[in-house]
Amino acid sequence: MVKDEVLKEVDKGNMLPLMEEFYTIQGEGFHKGTAAYFIRVGGCDVGCHWCDVKESWNAETHPPTAIEKITENAAKYSDTIVITGGEPLTWNMQPLTDALKAKNLKIHIETSGAYPLTGTWDWICLSPKKNKLPEGRIYDEAHELKVIVFNKHDLIFAEQEAAKTNKDCILYLQPEWSVRDKVVPMIVDYVMKNPKWKVSLQTHKYLNIP
Ligand code: SF4
Repeated sequence: MVKDEVLKEVDKGNMLPLMEEFYTIQGEGFHKGTAAYFIRVGGCDVGCHWCDVKESWNAETHPPTAIEKITENAAKYSDTIVITGGEPLTWNMQPLTDALKAKNLKIHIETSGAYPLTGTWDWICLSPKKNKLPEGRIYDEAHELKVIVFNKHDLIFAEQEAAKTNKDCILYLQPEWSVRDKVVPMIVDYVMKNPKWKVSLQTHKYLNIP
């Protein structure tokens, strides 16, 4: 396929810049401890300074891959698929989620919500970022809100974002990994005083798995 045709397919969501895919244990949030197959899609312009997958940012460094190929592979490993990034909503997620649903797979997304919600999801983890706030209806549809805490101002941001979510959305505060020793006591204290929040830890990093 020539480059222009590939770009058109990527625009439609029939091909996606695939950074990596792996079968592991979900480390974070509501489904922590559960085996799942992760599909990491490249491309993100949100620009979090503490991002631990900066190599995902430039979509051009990740090969455009047909969703049929991604789906075939994913179905071999798990009935639960987590689409992460990068920022997966940079792209039209409808074709990929349709293809995964056709195989009766459960599909989760981890997103900053920086772009309009596309795709059909069984679980939406919304992790908003200050520099590019979520758009529209994702607050109504998110199953969990996961705010990364780098400093105490993030607790104020967390409350602002929680106020926009639906009543069933589960609220998590998660320490940013590089400052975890500093912020964990603050988060623990905050959650005890504000028990609508729960603590989420990056348990896969403690387990030393992807
Ligand atoms: S939104 Fe996610 S992938 Fe993008 S810069 Fe922030 S942490 Fe990294």
